[in-house]
Amino acid sequence: MDFRLSDEQTMMVETARQVGADFGLDYWRELDERGAYPSAMWAAICQAGLCGVALPEAHGGAGLGMIEMALVIEALAASGAGSTVAQLFMLNPIFGGVAVSKYGTDAMRRALLPGLCKGAVQFCMALTEPDAGTNSLEVKTFARADGNGWRLNGRKIWISAVPAAQKMLVVARTKKREEVARKTDGISLFLIDVARDGLTHQAIAKLGTRCVPASNVYFDDVKVEGDELIGTLDGGWRQLLDVLNTERIVTTAGLVGTVELALRLAVEYANERRVFADKPISSYQGLQFPLAQAHAEAACARVMNYKAATQCDQGLDYGSEANMGKLIAAQACADATERAMQAMGGMGYAKDMHVERLWRDCRLFRFAPISEEMILNYIAQHDLGMARSY
Ligand SMILES: Cc1cc2nc3c(=O)[nH]c(=O)nc-3n(C[C@H](O)[C@H](O)[C@H](O)COP(=O)(O)OP(=O)(O)OC[C@H]3O[C@@H](n4cnc5c(N)ncnc54)[C@H](O)[C@@H]3O)c2cc1C
Repeated sequence: MDFRLSDEQTMMVETARQVGADFGLDYWRELDERGAYPSAMWAAICQAGLCGVALPEAHGGAGLGMIEMALVIEALAASGAGSTVAQLFMLNPIFGGVAVSKYGTDAMRRALLPGLCKGAVQFCMALTEPDAGTNSLEVKTFARADGNGWRLNGRKIWISAVPAAQKMLVVARTKKREEVARKTDGISLFLIDVARDGLTHQAIAKLGTRCVPASNVYFDDVKVEGDELIGTLDGGWRQLLDVLNTERIVTTAGLVGTVELALRLAVEYANERRVFADKPISSYQGLQFPLAQAHAEAACARVMNYKAATQCDQGLDYGSEANMGKLIAAQACADATERAMQAMGGMGYAKDMHVERLWRDCRLFRFAPISEEMILNYIAQHDLGMARSY
Protein backbone atom coordinates (compact mmCIF):
# COMPACT_ATOMS: atom_id res chain seq x y z
CA MET A 1 0.00 0.00 0.00
CA ASP A 2 1.44 3.26 -1.12
CA PHE A 3 -0.90 6.23 -1.00
CA ARG A 4 1.48 8.64 -2.75
CA LEU A 5 0.37 9.69 -6.22
CA SER A 6 2.68 8.99 -9.17
CA ASP A 7 3.94 11.94 -11.24
CA GLU A 8 1.45 11.03 -13.95
CA GLN A 9 -1.43 10.93 -11.46
CA THR A 10 -0.36 14.25 -9.95
CA MET A 11 -0.33 15.76 -13.44
CA MET A 12 -3.81 14.40 -14.18
CA VAL A 13 -5.18 15.85 -10.95
CA GLU A 14 -3.54 19.20 -11.70
CA THR A 15 -5.08 19.23 -15.19
CA ALA A 16 -8.50 18.40 -13.72
CA ARG A 17 -8.11 21.23 -11.18
CA GLN A 18 -7.31 23.67 -13.97
CA VAL A 19 -10.31 22.61 -16.05
CA GLY A 20 -12.45 22.75 -12.90
CA ALA A 21 -11.22 26.26 -12.12
CA ASP A 22 -12.20 27.42 -15.62
CA PHE A 23 -15.77 26.20 -14.96
CA GLY A 24 -16.25 27.09 -11.31
CA LEU A 25 -19.16 27.69 -8.98
CA ASP A 26 -20.74 30.51 -10.99
CA TYR A 27 -20.75 28.47 -14.20
CA TRP A 28 -22.69 25.72 -12.45
CA ARG A 29 -24.98 28.17 -10.64
CA GLU A 30 -25.98 29.67 -13.97
CA LEU A 31 -26.51 26.30 -15.70
CA ASP A 32 -28.55 25.07 -12.75
CA GLU A 33 -30.77 28.15 -12.99
CA ARG A 34 -31.42 27.50 -16.70
CA GLY A 35 -31.50 23.69 -16.45
CA ALA A 36 -28.84 23.65 -19.16
CA TYR A 37 -26.47 20.78 -19.94
CA PRO A 38 -22.76 21.38 -19.11
CA SER A 39 -21.65 20.96 -22.74
CA ALA A 40 -18.81 23.50 -22.62
CA MET A 41 -17.23 21.91 -19.56
CA TRP A 42 -17.59 18.42 -20.99
CA ALA A 43 -15.89 19.60 -24.19
CA ALA A 44 -13.02 21.03 -22.12
CA ILE A 45 -12.74 17.82 -20.06
CA CYS A 46 -12.47 15.81 -23.27
CA GLN A 47 -10.03 18.24 -24.87
CA ALA A 48 -7.78 17.96 -21.81
CA GLY A 49 -7.75 14.16 -22.30
CA LEU A 50 -9.64 13.47 -19.07
CA CYS A 51 -12.64 11.62 -20.51
CA GLY A 52 -10.48 8.86 -21.93
CA VAL A 53 -8.20 8.52 -18.93
CA ALA A 54 -9.13 4.83 -18.41
CA LEU A 55 -9.80 3.95 -22.05
CA PRO A 56 -7.35 2.12 -24.33
CA GLU A 57 -4.54 4.16 -25.90
CA ALA A 58 -5.17 2.44 -29.22
CA HIS A 59 -8.56 4.16 -29.40
CA GLY A 60 -7.71 7.65 -28.17
CA GLY A 61 -7.60 7.09 -24.42
CA ALA A 62 -4.72 7.42 -21.96
CA GLY A 63 -4.64 3.70 -21.12
CA LEU A 64 -4.67 4.32 -17.36
CA GLY A 65 -7.27 2.97 -14.95
CA MET A 66 -10.26 3.56 -12.71
CA ILE A 67 -8.01 4.92 -9.97
CA GLU A 68 -6.92 7.78 -12.25
CA MET A 69 -10.54 8.34 -13.28
CA ALA A 70 -11.54 8.59 -9.62
CA LEU A 71 -8.77 11.11 -8.90
CA VAL A 72 -9.80 13.27 -11.86
CA ILE A 73 -13.51 13.27 -10.90
CA GLU A 74 -12.76 14.15 -7.26
CA ALA A 75 -10.74 17.16 -8.40
CA LEU A 76 -13.43 18.32 -10.85
CA ALA A 77 -16.22 17.92 -8.28
CA ALA A 78 -14.24 19.75 -5.59
CA SER A 79 -13.45 22.62 -7.94
CA GLY A 80 -17.08 23.78 -8.04
CA ALA A 81 -19.08 21.27 -10.08
CA GLY A 82 -20.18 19.05 -7.23
CA SER A 83 -21.53 15.54 -7.72
CA THR A 84 -23.24 16.26 -11.05
CA VAL A 85 -19.92 16.22 -12.91
CA ALA A 86 -19.59 12.54 -11.99
CA GLN A 87 -22.76 11.87 -13.98
CA LEU A 88 -21.00 13.02 -17.14
CA PHE A 89 -18.36 10.35 -16.50
CA MET A 90 -20.97 7.69 -15.75
CA LEU A 91 -22.70 8.42 -19.02
CA ASN A 92 -19.66 8.51 -21.25
CA PRO A 93 -16.50 6.67 -20.16
CA ILE A 94 -18.60 4.18 -18.13
CA PHE A 95 -21.85 3.41 -20.00
CA GLY A 96 -20.17 4.08 -23.34
CA GLY A 97 -16.49 3.44 -22.62
CA VAL A 98 -16.49 0.41 -20.32
CA ALA A 99 -19.32 -1.25 -22.23
CA VAL A 100 -17.71 -0.78 -25.65
CA SER A 101 -14.06 -1.36 -24.68
CA LYS A 102 -14.80 -4.50 -22.64
CA TYR A 103 -17.77 -6.03 -24.42
CA GLY A 104 -18.03 -4.37 -27.84
CA THR A 105 -16.71 -5.76 -31.10
CA ASP A 106 -13.51 -4.42 -32.67
CA ALA A 107 -15.62 -2.53 -35.18
CA MET A 108 -17.56 -0.85 -32.35
CA ARG A 109 -14.35 0.10 -30.57
CA ARG A 110 -12.87 1.65 -33.69
CA ALA A 111 -16.10 3.43 -34.57
CA LEU A 112 -17.00 4.81 -31.15
CA LEU A 113 -14.09 5.13 -28.72
CA PRO A 114 -12.08 7.89 -30.45
CA GLY A 115 -15.23 10.05 -30.75
CA LEU A 116 -16.14 9.28 -27.15
CA CYS A 117 -12.70 10.40 -25.91
CA LYS A 118 -12.97 13.62 -27.94
CA GLY A 119 -16.50 14.32 -26.70
CA ALA A 120 -17.98 14.02 -30.19
CA VAL A 121 -20.24 11.10 -29.26
CA GLN A 122 -22.22 11.04 -26.02
CA PHE A 123 -24.00 8.17 -24.34
CA CYS A 124 -26.88 7.36 -22.01
CA MET A 125 -28.00 4.09 -20.43
CA ALA A 126 -31.53 2.74 -20.16
CA LEU A 127 -32.01 0.10 -17.47
CA THR A 128 -34.66 1.32 -14.98
CA GLU A 129 -38.32 0.58 -15.69
CA PRO A 130 -41.44 1.85 -13.93
CA ASP A 131 -42.68 -1.62 -12.95
CA ALA A 132 -39.31 -3.20 -12.15
CA GLY A 133 -37.43 -0.43 -10.27
CA THR A 134 -34.59 -1.76 -8.18
CA ASN A 135 -35.56 -5.30 -9.17
CA SER A 136 -33.80 -4.96 -12.54
CA LEU A 137 -34.23 -8.62 -13.43
CA GLU A 138 -37.94 -7.91 -13.85
CA VAL A 139 -37.37 -5.56 -16.80
CA LYS A 140 -40.06 -6.07 -19.42
CA THR A 141 -38.55 -4.19 -22.37
CA PHE A 142 -38.30 -6.91 -24.97
CA ALA A 143 -36.15 -7.28 -28.10
CA ARG A 144 -37.91 -9.66 -30.49
CA ALA A 145 -35.73 -11.34 -33.14
CA ASP A 146 -36.48 -9.85 -36.56
CA GLY A 147 -34.37 -10.83 -39.58
CA ASN A 148 -30.72 -10.09 -38.78
CA GLY A 149 -31.66 -7.88 -35.87
CA TRP A 150 -34.43 -7.22 -33.36
CA ARG A 151 -37.50 -5.07 -32.72
CA LEU A 152 -37.53 -3.31 -29.37
CA ASN A 153 -40.69 -2.56 -27.37
CA GLY A 154 -41.07 -1.26 -23.84
CA ARG A 155 -40.68 1.69 -21.52
CA LYS A 156 -37.86 3.04 -19.36
CA ILE A 157 -37.94 5.70 -16.66
CA TRP A 158 -35.44 8.18 -15.20
CA ILE A 159 -32.95 7.88 -18.05
CA SER A 160 -30.28 10.57 -17.72
CA ALA A 161 -29.09 12.88 -20.48
CA VAL A 162 -31.13 11.40 -23.34
CA PRO A 163 -31.39 14.72 -25.25
CA ALA A 164 -27.59 15.20 -25.07
CA ALA A 165 -26.75 11.66 -26.20
CA GLN A 166 -26.36 10.11 -29.63
CA LYS A 167 -26.07 6.53 -28.35
CA MET A 168 -28.12 4.61 -25.80
CA LEU A 169 -27.07 1.43 -24.02
CA VAL A 170 -30.36 -0.46 -23.65
CA VAL A 171 -30.96 -3.37 -21.28
CA ALA A 172 -33.67 -5.65 -22.64
CA ARG A 173 -34.95 -9.16 -22.35
CA THR A 174 -34.34 -11.33 -25.41
CA LYS A 175 -35.98 -14.29 -23.69
CA LYS A 176 -39.06 -13.92 -21.54
CA ARG A 177 -38.62 -14.49 -17.82
CA GLU A 178 -40.80 -17.66 -17.98
CA GLU A 179 -38.64 -19.13 -20.80
CA VAL A 180 -35.36 -19.20 -18.81
CA ALA A 181 -34.26 -21.43 -15.98
CA ARG A 182 -32.31 -18.70 -14.17
CA LYS A 183 -33.76 -15.19 -14.03
CA THR A 184 -30.34 -13.74 -14.89
CA ASP A 185 -30.52 -15.49 -18.28
CA GLY A 186 -32.24 -14.00 -21.30
CA ILE A 187 -31.02 -10.43 -20.78
CA SER A 188 -29.04 -8.66 -23.53
CA LEU A 189 -27.40 -5.28 -24.05
CA PHE A 190 -27.80 -3.19 -27.19
CA LEU A 191 -26.13 0.02 -28.24
CA ILE A 192 -28.56 1.93 -30.41
CA ASP A 193 -29.00 5.44 -31.83
CA VAL A 194 -31.11 7.80 -29.75
CA ALA A 195 -32.46 9.35 -32.93
CA ARG A 196 -34.41 6.42 -34.29
CA ASP A 197 -37.95 5.82 -35.47
CA GLY A 198 -40.12 4.63 -32.61
CA LEU A 199 -37.86 5.94 -29.81
CA THR A 200 -39.39 8.89 -27.96
CA HIS A 201 -38.52 10.55 -24.68
CA GLN A 202 -39.99 13.11 -22.33
CA ALA A 203 -38.19 14.92 -19.49
CA ILE A 204 -39.30 14.45 -15.86
CA ALA A 205 -39.42 17.53 -13.58
CA LYS A 206 -37.14 16.91 -10.57
CA LEU A 207 -35.52 18.36 -7.43
CA GLY A 208 -31.85 18.60 -8.38
CA THR A 209 -29.18 17.65 -10.92
CA ARG A 210 -31.03 20.18 -13.08
CA CYS A 211 -28.16 20.32 -15.59
CA VAL A 212 -28.61 16.65 -16.47
CA PRO A 213 -32.19 15.92 -17.51
CA ALA A 214 -33.83 12.57 -16.78
CA SER A 215 -36.53 11.20 -19.05
CA ASN A 216 -39.19 8.63 -19.65
CA VAL A 217 -38.19 6.67 -22.75
CA TYR A 218 -40.61 4.73 -24.96
CA PHE A 219 -39.62 2.06 -27.49
CA ASP A 220 -42.34 1.43 -30.04
CA ASP A 221 -41.13 -1.30 -32.39
CA VAL A 222 -37.67 0.28 -32.63
CA LYS A 223 -35.46 -1.47 -35.19
CA VAL A 224 -32.17 -2.79 -33.77
CA GLU A 225 -29.49 -3.90 -36.22
CA GLY A 226 -27.64 -7.20 -35.80
CA ASP A 227 -24.34 -5.43 -35.08
CA GLU A 228 -25.88 -3.32 -32.32
CA LEU A 229 -25.83 -6.21 -29.83
CA ILE A 230 -23.08 -5.55 -27.30
CA GLY A 231 -21.73 -8.47 -25.30
CA THR A 232 -23.39 -11.86 -25.17
CA LEU A 233 -26.89 -12.53 -26.49
CA ASP A 234 -29.06 -13.68 -23.55
CA GLY A 235 -25.98 -13.45 -21.30
CA GLY A 236 -25.69 -9.70 -20.77
CA TRP A 237 -26.53 -9.63 -17.05
CA ARG A 238 -22.99 -10.24 -15.71
CA GLN A 239 -21.58 -7.77 -18.22
CA LEU A 240 -24.12 -5.18 -17.12
CA LEU A 241 -23.10 -5.68 -13.47
CA ASP A 242 -19.46 -5.06 -14.41
CA VAL A 243 -20.45 -1.76 -16.03
CA LEU A 244 -22.61 -0.81 -13.02
CA ASN A 245 -19.89 -1.53 -10.47
CA THR A 246 -17.50 0.86 -12.21
CA GLU A 247 -20.35 3.39 -12.12
CA ARG A 248 -20.23 3.20 -8.31
CA ILE A 249 -16.55 4.13 -8.24
CA VAL A 250 -17.31 7.20 -10.33
CA THR A 251 -20.28 8.14 -8.10
CA THR A 252 -18.16 7.91 -4.94
CA ALA A 253 -15.40 10.03 -6.46
CA GLY A 254 -17.93 12.77 -7.27
CA LEU A 255 -19.37 12.61 -3.77
CA VAL A 256 -16.09 12.82 -1.85
CA GLY A 257 -15.06 15.75 -4.07
CA THR A 258 -18.38 17.41 -3.22
CA VAL A 259 -17.84 16.91 0.51
CA GLU A 260 -14.49 18.67 0.16
CA LEU A 261 -16.17 21.55 -1.69
CA ALA A 262 -19.13 21.92 0.70
CA LEU A 263 -16.86 21.87 3.75
CA ARG A 264 -14.53 24.45 2.20
CA LEU A 265 -17.45 26.80 1.50
CA ALA A 266 -18.88 26.31 5.00
CA VAL A 267 -15.55 26.76 6.77
CA GLU A 268 -14.68 29.90 4.79
CA TYR A 269 -18.04 31.38 5.72
CA ALA A 270 -17.96 30.29 9.35
CA ASN A 271 -14.41 31.59 9.88
CA GLU A 272 -15.56 35.07 8.85
CA ARG A 273 -19.04 35.21 10.35
CA ARG A 274 -19.35 36.68 13.86
CA VAL A 275 -22.69 36.80 15.67
CA PHE A 276 -22.72 37.05 19.48
CA ALA A 277 -19.14 37.21 20.66
CA ASP A 278 -16.08 38.62 19.05
CA LYS A 279 -15.14 35.24 17.73
CA PRO A 280 -16.23 33.50 14.55
CA ILE A 281 -19.12 31.06 14.56
CA SER A 282 -16.60 28.41 13.40
CA SER A 283 -15.35 28.28 16.99
CA TYR A 284 -18.61 26.64 18.17
CA GLN A 285 -18.37 22.88 18.53
CA GLY A 286 -22.02 22.55 17.53
CA LEU A 287 -20.98 23.67 14.06
CA GLN A 288 -17.58 21.99 14.03
CA PHE A 289 -18.46 18.43 14.98
CA PRO A 290 -20.91 17.58 12.18
CA LEU A 291 -18.54 19.04 9.60
CA ALA A 292 -15.59 17.18 11.12
CA GLN A 293 -17.66 13.97 11.15
CA ALA A 294 -18.54 14.34 7.45
CA HIS A 295 -14.89 15.03 6.67
CA ALA A 296 -13.82 11.85 8.48
CA GLU A 297 -16.47 9.74 6.77
CA ALA A 298 -15.62 11.10 3.33
CA ALA A 299 -11.93 10.41 3.96
CA CYS A 300 -12.78 6.76 4.76
CA ALA A 301 -15.03 6.47 1.69
CA ARG A 302 -12.24 7.91 -0.46
CA VAL A 303 -9.76 5.27 0.66
CA MET A 304 -12.32 2.52 0.16
CA ASN A 305 -12.98 3.88 -3.31
CA TYR A 306 -9.26 3.80 -4.13
CA LYS A 307 -9.26 0.16 -3.03
CA ALA A 308 -12.26 -0.61 -5.26
CA ALA A 309 -10.66 1.20 -8.20
CA THR A 310 -7.30 -0.51 -7.70
CA GLN A 311 -8.88 -3.96 -7.48
CA CYS A 312 -10.94 -3.20 -10.57
CA ASP A 313 -7.76 -2.20 -12.43
CA GLN A 314 -6.05 -5.38 -11.22
CA GLY A 315 -8.88 -7.55 -12.51
CA LEU A 316 -9.89 -8.55 -8.97
CA ASP A 317 -13.39 -8.65 -7.50
CA TYR A 318 -14.32 -5.19 -6.26
CA GLY A 319 -18.11 -5.30 -5.82
CA SER A 320 -18.12 -5.04 -2.00
CA GLU A 321 -15.56 -2.25 -1.92
CA ALA A 322 -17.37 -0.26 -4.61
CA ASN A 323 -20.68 -0.65 -2.78
CA MET A 324 -19.32 0.21 0.68
CA GLY A 325 -17.50 3.28 -0.61
CA LYS A 326 -20.65 4.53 -2.33
CA LEU A 327 -22.84 3.89 0.74
CA ILE A 328 -20.67 5.96 3.08
CA ALA A 329 -19.81 8.65 0.53
CA ALA A 330 -23.49 9.33 -0.25
CA GLN A 331 -24.36 9.60 3.45
CA ALA A 332 -21.33 11.78 4.22
CA CYS A 333 -22.13 14.05 1.30
CA ALA A 334 -25.80 14.42 2.27
CA ASP A 335 -24.70 15.27 5.84
CA ALA A 336 -21.86 17.58 4.76
CA THR A 337 -24.06 19.65 2.45
CA GLU A 338 -26.93 19.75 4.96
CA ARG A 339 -24.62 20.82 7.81
CA ALA A 340 -22.76 23.25 5.58
CA MET A 341 -26.12 24.96 4.89
CA GLN A 342 -26.89 24.96 8.61
CA ALA A 343 -23.51 26.55 9.37
CA MET A 344 -24.34 29.37 6.95
CA GLY A 345 -27.73 30.07 8.53
CA GLY A 346 -30.01 32.01 6.16
CA MET A 347 -27.20 32.53 3.69
CA GLY A 348 -26.98 28.77 3.17
CA TYR A 349 -30.43 29.01 1.58
CA ALA A 350 -29.26 31.61 -0.95
CA LYS A 351 -28.41 30.41 -4.43
CA ASP A 352 -25.39 32.71 -4.47
CA MET A 353 -23.73 30.63 -1.76
CA HIS A 354 -23.90 27.44 -3.91
CA VAL A 355 -24.35 24.93 -1.08
CA GLU A 356 -28.09 24.53 -1.69
CA ARG A 357 -27.29 23.22 -5.21
CA LEU A 358 -24.75 20.76 -3.86
CA TRP A 359 -27.33 19.59 -1.28
CA ARG A 360 -30.10 19.14 -3.89
CA ASP A 361 -27.83 17.39 -6.37
CA CYS A 362 -26.15 14.90 -4.08
CA ARG A 363 -29.45 13.73 -2.55
CA LEU A 364 -29.92 11.62 -5.68
CA PHE A 365 -27.01 9.38 -4.84
CA ARG A 366 -28.53 8.00 -1.65
CA PHE A 367 -30.88 5.94 -3.83
CA ALA A 368 -29.19 5.94 -7.24
CA PRO A 369 -27.48 4.40 -9.07
CA ILE A 370 -28.11 1.86 -6.29
CA SER A 371 -29.99 2.58 -3.08
CA GLU A 372 -28.52 2.40 0.41
CA GLU A 373 -30.96 -0.38 1.28
CA MET A 374 -29.83 -2.54 -1.64
CA ILE A 375 -26.17 -1.99 -0.71
CA LEU A 376 -26.91 -3.09 2.85
CA ASN A 377 -28.74 -6.14 1.46
CA TYR A 378 -25.66 -6.91 -0.64
CA ILE A 379 -23.27 -6.55 2.30
CA ALA A 380 -25.49 -8.67 4.55
CA GLN A 381 -25.68 -11.49 1.99
CA HIS A 382 -22.31 -11.42 0.25
CA ASP A 383 -19.98 -10.22 2.98
CA LEU A 384 -21.74 -11.51 6.09
CA GLY A 385 -23.35 -14.66 4.68
CA MET A 386 -26.86 -13.79 5.90
CA ALA A 387 -30.07 -15.08 4.32
CA ARG A 388 -31.68 -13.07 1.54
CA SER A 389 -34.65 -11.12 2.90
CA TYR A 390 -36.53 -10.47 -0.35
C1 LIG B 1 -32.36 11.78 -11.45
C2 LIG B 1 -32.26 10.31 -11.73
C3 LIG B 1 -31.42 9.86 -12.73
C4 LIG B 1 -31.38 8.50 -13.06
N1 LIG B 1 -30.64 8.09 -14.13
C5 LIG B 1 -30.77 6.79 -14.55
C6 LIG B 1 -30.19 6.37 -15.78
O1 LIG B 1 -29.50 7.14 -16.47
N2 LIG B 1 -30.40 5.10 -16.21
C7 LIG B 1 -31.16 4.21 -15.48
O2 LIG B 1 -31.33 3.08 -15.93
N3 LIG B 1 -31.71 4.58 -14.30
C8 LIG B 1 -31.55 5.84 -13.82
N4 LIG B 1 -32.14 6.23 -12.64
C9 LIG B 1 -32.91 5.26 -11.88
C10 LIG B 1 -32.30 4.91 -10.52
O3 LIG B 1 -31.21 4.06 -10.71
C11 LIG B 1 -33.43 4.30 -9.67
O4 LIG B 1 -34.29 5.37 -9.32
C12 LIG B 1 -32.92 3.61 -8.47
O5 LIG B 1 -32.21 2.46 -8.83
C13 LIG B 1 -34.05 3.20 -7.51
O6 LIG B 1 -35.07 2.53 -8.23
P1 LIG B 1 -36.59 3.01 -8.07
O7 LIG B 1 -36.61 4.49 -8.20
O8 LIG B 1 -37.44 2.24 -8.98
O9 LIG B 1 -36.93 2.67 -6.57
P2 LIG B 1 -37.73 1.36 -6.04
O10 LIG B 1 -37.14 0.13 -6.61
O11 LIG B 1 -39.18 1.58 -6.23
O12 LIG B 1 -37.39 1.40 -4.49
C14 LIG B 1 -38.03 2.32 -3.60
C15 LIG B 1 -37.42 2.18 -2.22
O13 LIG B 1 -37.61 0.85 -1.74
C16 LIG B 1 -36.37 0.30 -1.34
N5 LIG B 1 -36.34 -1.14 -1.58
C17 LIG B 1 -36.73 -1.78 -2.73
N6 LIG B 1 -36.49 -3.11 -2.62
C18 LIG B 1 -35.94 -3.30 -1.39
C19 LIG B 1 -35.46 -4.46 -0.69
N7 LIG B 1 -35.49 -5.67 -1.21
N8 LIG B 1 -34.95 -4.27 0.56
C20 LIG B 1 -34.93 -3.03 1.13
N9 LIG B 1 -35.35 -1.91 0.49
C21 LIG B 1 -35.85 -2.04 -0.73
C22 LIG B 1 -35.33 1.01 -2.17
O14 LIG B 1 -34.04 0.95 -1.59
C23 LIG B 1 -35.91 2.41 -2.22
O15 LIG B 1 -35.53 3.13 -1.07
C24 LIG B 1 -32.14 7.58 -12.27
C25 LIG B 1 -32.94 8.04 -11.24
C26 LIG B 1 -33.03 9.38 -10.97
C27 LIG B 1 -33.96 9.85 -9.87
